[in-house]
Parts: sequence; C-alpha cells; structure tokens
Amino acid sequence: PPAETPQVVLDAHGLPYLNAKLPVKKRVADLLSRMSLAEKAGQMTQAERGAITAPGDIAAYGLGSLLSGGGSTPTPNTPEAWAKMIDAFQLRAQATRFQIPLIYGVDAVHGHNNLVGATVMPHNIGIGATRDPALAEQTGAVTAAEVRATGIPWDFAPCLCVTRDERWGRSYEAYGEDPALVQAMETVIQGLQGRASGADLKDDDKVLATAKHFVGDGGTGYGSSTTGTYTIDQGVTEVTRQELEAVHLAPFRTAVDRGVGTVMPSYSSLDIAGDGKGPVKMHARADLLNGVLKDRMGFDGFVISDWAAIDQLPGDYASDVRTSVNAGLDMIMVPYAYKDFHATLLDEVGAGRVAERRIDDAVSRILTRKFELGLFEKPYADTGNASAIGSAGHRNVARKAAAESQVLLKNSGGVLPLKKNQKVYVAGSNADDIGNQTGGWTITWQGASGDITQGTTILEGMRKAGGDVTYSKDASASTDGYDVGVVVVGETPYAEGVGDVGNGNDLELTAADRAAVDKVCAAMRCAVLIVSGRPQLIGDRLGDIDALVASWLPGTEGDGVADVLYGRRPFTGQLPVTWPKSQAQLPINVGDAAYDPQFPYGWGLTTLSRVPEGGSATLKGLAAAAAAAERAGADGVGRALVGKARLLVQQKVGQAVTAAVAKPFADADHLLLTGRYGKAVEQLTAAYRAAS
Ligand code: BGC
Repeated sequence: PPAETPQVVLDAHGLPYLNAKLPVKKRVADLLSRMSLAEKAGQMTQAERGAITAPGDIAAYGLGSLLSGGGSTPTPNTPEAWAKMIDAFQLRAQATRFQIPLIYGVDAVHGHNNLVGATVMPHNIGIGATRDPALAEQTGAVTAAEVRATGIPWDFAPCLCVTRDERWGRSYEAYGEDPALVQAMETVIQGLQGRASGADLKDDDKVLATAKHFVGDGGTGYGSSTTGTYTIDQGVTEVTRQELEAVHLAPFRTAVDRGVGTVMPSYSSLDIAGDGKGPVKMHARADLLNGVLKDRMGFDGFVISDWAAIDQLPGDYASDVRTSVNAGLDMIMVPYAYKDFHATLLDEVGAGRVAERRIDDAVSRILTRKFELGLFEKPYADTGNASAIGSAGHRNVARKAAAESQVLLKNSGGVLPLKKNQKVYVAGSNADDIGNQTGGWTITWQGASGDITQGTTILEGMRKAGGDVTYSKDASASTDGYDVGVVVVGETPYAEGVGDVGNGNDLELTAADRAAVDKVCAAMRCAVLIVSGRPQLIGDRLGDIDALVASWLPGTEGDGVADVLYGRRPFTGQLPVTWPKSQAQLPINVGDAAYDPQFPYGWGLTTLSRVPEGGSATLKGLAAAAAAAERAGADGVGRALVGKARLLVQQKVGQAVTAAVAKPFADADHLLLTGRYGKAVEQLTAAYRAAS
C-alpha cells in the first residue's frame, strides 16, 4: 500500500461483507443493505482519471470506477508510475466508510498497448487470420498478466464486432467478417479472465474482460461521399431480425457462455426491419440490453456505457440518464460529467423515474465483480509480475501471433520464402516503423508513426534473421543487382472514425507507396507486404507483383514477420475479410449473391512443404474421412483433413481465383469454423472442380 495514511471515516472491520470466506452473493447483499442511495449512485459512476480535479471527489461522490481513456497515461509511462497513480486513487476510495475499492479500466486491445515497453500483439484482424483459437487465448493471457501487473484489473476488450465494410475505421479491431470466425476467437476471453465461473479473476495475472460493442457496430452504413458525411462510425445498422441474430448477436451469446464480466453497448443505432421503431441508439435499447442480453442470454455481469455515449441520446440530460439506466446500463462512463451524472441520477430516483430496484440490481452486478476480482482483499497494485512485462516469454507469444497472422495472397514462382544467400532490396513506408506496425490504440489513442515503443521492425527482424538486406525507404537507391525486392507499404495509424478513407484515399495505397512498388517490382522479382488495418486496393498492379502478403498490424514483434519471410515458419494465415478488387465492390462479404473479390474470404497460400498427415490423398476420400471425424467429434482430425483438402485446391487453382472458385472456397472456411468438416471438404471439392 502507498505510504500515505488513509483517512478512514469508519472502520468497517468485522462486517460480514469483508469476510472473504462468505459466498460472494452474501457479501453483496450485506454491503448493499448498508449503502445509501448516494453511495449506490457513486458505484454506477465512472470518471476519466484526468477529470478528477479534486482528489477528494473520489470519496465525496463514492466513485465506483476510473478509467484511462486512450493516451491518458502517467509520466513517466512506466509500470511503476501506473501502479503508483492507481494506488493513489485507490487510497482515496479506501477513505470511504465502507472502503469499497475502485475498479480501474483501460483499453488494452492488443496487449497492454498503453504502456511503453509492453508486449503489443497483432490487432484483432491479424488474430482472426491465424484461425488459431489456442493462440488467441494465449494472447489474452499475456495481455491480462501485463495489465494486472500495473494495478489494472479491467480491460475494455475484446471487440466482437463482425465487420461488414472495411471503410469503417475500426475494421482492424474485428476478428473478421464472419460471425463464426469471431466466435472461434473468443477463447481470448478465457485468456483474459480464466475460467468462465470467474474463479480465476482474483489471480494476479487475470483481468475482467469487456465484450464490445453490443450490438451491430460492425454493420453500420457507410454514409455519403457526395455530402462528405461518413456515418459508418457510430452510425446506423439496418438489419432484419434474422440477420441481427445470426450475424451480430451470435458472438455475444458466445461471450456470455464464456462468462465475460462486462459488456459495452455500441455508439451506433440499430434499425430492425419491421419493428416500427426506426433507428434507436443502442444505449437506449431496453429491448436489446434488458430483453436480449440480460433476460434471454442470461448475462449476469455489468453493462458499462461507452465514452460519453449517453450524451448522444435525444432529449435533455435527465432523459439521457433515465433512459440509459432504465434500458439496462449499470455503470456509466461519463467521463468528465461525474458530478452532473451523480446528481441527476439521484434526482431521477427521487422522482420515481428510475426505480430503486434498478439501482440495486446495477450495484449488485458491479459489487459482484469487485468481490470476484478480490479487490476488497487486495485493493492496491500487486506489481510482483511487473518483470513479465515485455519479457522474452511474452514477446514470443506475440511473435508467434505475428507469424501466424501473415496471409500469403500470391506467390508466383515461389518468391517466398526468401533464402539467406539472396541479396534483398527492402523499401517502403512501413518496413522500418514500429508505430505504423502497431497501428491505432498504441501508446496514444490514435497511435503514431515512428519510435513510439520498444520492439522490432520488420526490417530489423529480417536483419536479425541473417538476411543480406539493403534498405532504401523511398526506393531511391539504385536497384541494380539484387535477387529480390521486399516492399512494405500500407497505412499510418488511426483509431475509430474512418481512417484516411474520408480524405478520398479510399483504401488506395499512397502515391509514394505506389511509386515504391512500381519501381522495385519493375526492376526485380518482388514481394509486397501490406501493413494495414484492412485490405488495400491492388487492382491491376497485382500482375506486376510476384508475391503479395497481407501483414495487417503485426504489433511489436517484427521477428514474427521475418520468420515467415525467411521460412523459419510456414505461411498459414487465411483472410479474415474479403479482399476487394475495387472501391465499387464495397461492402463485399462472403455469402453475398454476387461475389467476385480479388481474394475471397478464407484465402491464404501456405508454404508448408508437406500436407498434414492422415486421411486419403483424394478429395473424395478426404470428404468421407472428414465427415467421420465430424461424427466422432474429433475436431483436430477434422481440421487437419480440411486443411489438406484446402492445399489440394490451392495447388490446382494457382492464381486463377475466379468467382466460381472463390465462393465455395470461402464457404468451406465458414463450415470449418462451425465444425462441419465433411461439408467443408465438399465445398472445397466444388472449388477444385470449378478450377478444372
Ligand atoms: C471507444 C471504446 C473505448 C472507450 C474508452 C470509446 O471511444 O468506442 O471502445 O472502450 O472509448 O476508451
């Protein structure tokens, strides 16, 4: 505990709720029965740490929670400074009569991305590309360990958006465009929280997770390029009931089953066909929050609003507060208006417009999680694990994730993997830039180019791998005499909004990137790596490029990218989203009636030298074996057999990805993810036939 002495108003010693041996339910009931309405309203209030002007406000309002919004980091930005800062706030909370601990939250959406020196994972779009649920769980475990070691017990992650249009600036926060893929990656919740029962939350390497943003955030319409209003972020999702269930709600059902502790509603509105309501903001949708999430799905954690989201509801502030709390929000991220919120909530309860029953329910949910996290017993930071932050073990998990996330889209003449005796010419804006490689939500909210944290760039990784590498960022150095070129291009960081799409760049590479690609690929055999949060349009340029890799935002471990480039690991990643040919095709998703992308959902060549063992060598034999594995519930065998069939198809298809091939190929991946192995091989067989 901090050196300062807490000014405890009343010694709560001996009260039943402080008895860790009692069941959590009993402790919650005991504490709740003692609390005043003002104390209860305080628990429902979350403020930004920078908004607390008078430290005494924490006790005066009985604040339940604080957060660091993106970039709200201590100076210096070290583990010790984080722990010290949070402990100082906690000390104030300990000076209240019941000593109810604060719960501190951050967005650690790809590792502990707020902290300089932490292990930064690939963003979720890359994790989706790995198709590796065990690895997703490991990335969650590393994140949780690093976050908790800085005194933070709560992470506003994972984002479970099913992204349907990559012009959305949060596309990279999604695991992919297919709900089955998002569901498969939700093992990350166990990595963060431990067992679904919540029994591991008190461990010093676990945190409470947040499934966000409920619901339909990935389905918003793009808006108008004529008026220049891009409503795709925080806009309106128009759906039928059936689509809502199958596409957007499905991942939240899985999250509830996995015991996710908190859920954050989306800024967006939902417009459900035929319900007669028109577009309604999610923070006001009692039918979805109370009705579906809590009542039907049985979610028993607490609902935390998004940042100042209630301000977007129609009507005055009292109406915002009343509507959102009555709709099922349990804690409100105010984040600067904590005094107003607290007073307004008390007024609304006083006037009978919010029932005290609703307040008791909300506070019970919040207290339950605080007890489960062990915060009453250990309110202060336990920095015992701080040495694990950015450790070799953690970085190895991120490196593996970076390697498995690489999707080899094209590989003419076997340009990749590179050989160590080749003279390699490296160019491009994203070859040697940790900031661009980690993307948004890194150190600051928007992220930034350049040396923002510790890690290995792709160029450095290639050098460490022993490559004979010459680097010319803008490809101005002479291109004479090289065996192969590697041009690493893509996006610069952004978070939320639309990224640079609204400026008319529309998923096009920048002029400088295009020039570097054109120059190097005209001069020698070349591989192009795209480091970006979403597909970038390649169009006809594809003909001039020998090998093309979707690298996504691989995080701090450029070594992982170098691993696949130099063949220390095979390429195995598969597209988590459809790769469009042109702007005019957007939005484009697997399952669309007319589906003619540049590369289909699920595409990804592998450089595995041998197909996985087992099963027959013919597609017919594989289909039968896969169906048998499915009946026997042998998932590992089923997946391997489908993988083998995929390889046979890729060998046949080569670069000729026609629509007739793309559709069944993509459908096969969906079937694989939902455990229908026999049918998956049948679809791959159809793709094979279409290519013949
Ligand atoms: C984002 C959330 C995030 C919150 C807190 C909002 O702008 O939409 O995803 O958790 O900020 O930083």
